Amino acid sequence: EAAMYKAKDAGRKACRYYDPAMNVATSERLQLSNGLRNALSRGELELHYQVQLSLDSDEVIGAEALLRWNHPQWGTVSPARFIPVAEESGLIVSIGAWILREACRQAAEWRARGVVIPVVAVNISALQLQDPALVSTVAEALAAAGLPPEALELELTESGLIQDNAQVQATVEGLKELGVSLAIDDFGTGYSCLAYLSRLHVDLLKIDQSFVRDLKRTADGSAIVAAIIQIARSLGLRTLAEGVEDRETAEALRQLGCNHAQGYLFGRPMPARSLTAQMAERRVS
Ligand code: C2E
Ligand code: CA
Ligand code: CA
Ligand code: CA
Repeated sequence: EAAMYKAKDAGRKACRYYDPAMNVATSERLQLSNGLRNALSRGELELHYQVQLSLDSDEVIGAEALLRWNHPQWGTVSPARFIPVAEESGLIVSIGAWILREACRQAAEWRARGVVIPVVAVNISALQLQDPALVSTVAEALAAAGLPPEALELELTESGLIQDNAQVQATVEGLKELGVSLAIDDFGTGYSCLAYLSRLHVDLLKIDQSFVRDLKRTADGSAIVAAIIQIARSLGLRTLAEGVEDRETAEALRQLGCNHAQGYLFGRPMPARSLTAQMAERRVS
């Protein structure tokens, strides 16, 4: 566990975090935000889904919804570029509500068709978490789809949670009361406060792919992953490793006691209908 705490900057009171929006030049941000304003009504946004598996049973336990923007001129724009812009412009709130409705609708469709994808995970940005209406937005998405709350997982970011404010705390409690499960995305990346873990009721830690990558490269990498799994265990949380690309890594994770995994080894993010077809093949093989 020592490795985990080494990163902690003990002298500072505030949690610092790196803002990816600062990467993108201002003019490009303006272009992107103008384009995004109409993307939803023009039908340019689409969700892709990536499977999540149990490392013990190899069963599919869920799928993460990942947003795609197909722009008529620019082609596919990476979410790493446009999500920060959507946050900055506030557009993430209306786009986020659409993502929740669409993901719940898809999850309900899979259930109705007997496709075994028990949980759909949806990314929630820090800005959405500050919106007092988030709990009712989630409740409405579930109700509209007729989806039971245990079939929905929300992936929250550390940058959203470390803001020790009453609004965020109330929202997280409200979400928990709805019966959805909560995951911490990119756990351990660049942030220094773990206090929120004992304050908020989350169910799952997603081990960031940067740690997963280092797992087989270095002894320190493996120590960090082991430490995260240890923290999760002692708090009664499950763990999911992201970015698993090869069998060796999957096996090492399983031996360390990691519960679930996601990554190119098991499947790339793909349109819902492609995943439906793959799941049908999986069943007969
Ligand atoms: P994330 O939530 O950490 O998502 C995981 C990213 O890793 C995805 O990139 C996924 O395609 C990629 N990935 C999955 N398996 C592997 C692997 O084995 N190897 C490698 N190298 N990469 C892998 P993507 O789809 O480009 O999304 C990037 C980020 O954009 C996401 O990171 C998330 O922070 C954000 N994002 C995507 N969709 C949404 C959304 O619907 N809402 C919000 N708020 N953010 C989103
Ligand atoms: Ca995620
Ligand atoms: Ca992640
Ligand atoms: Ca990430």
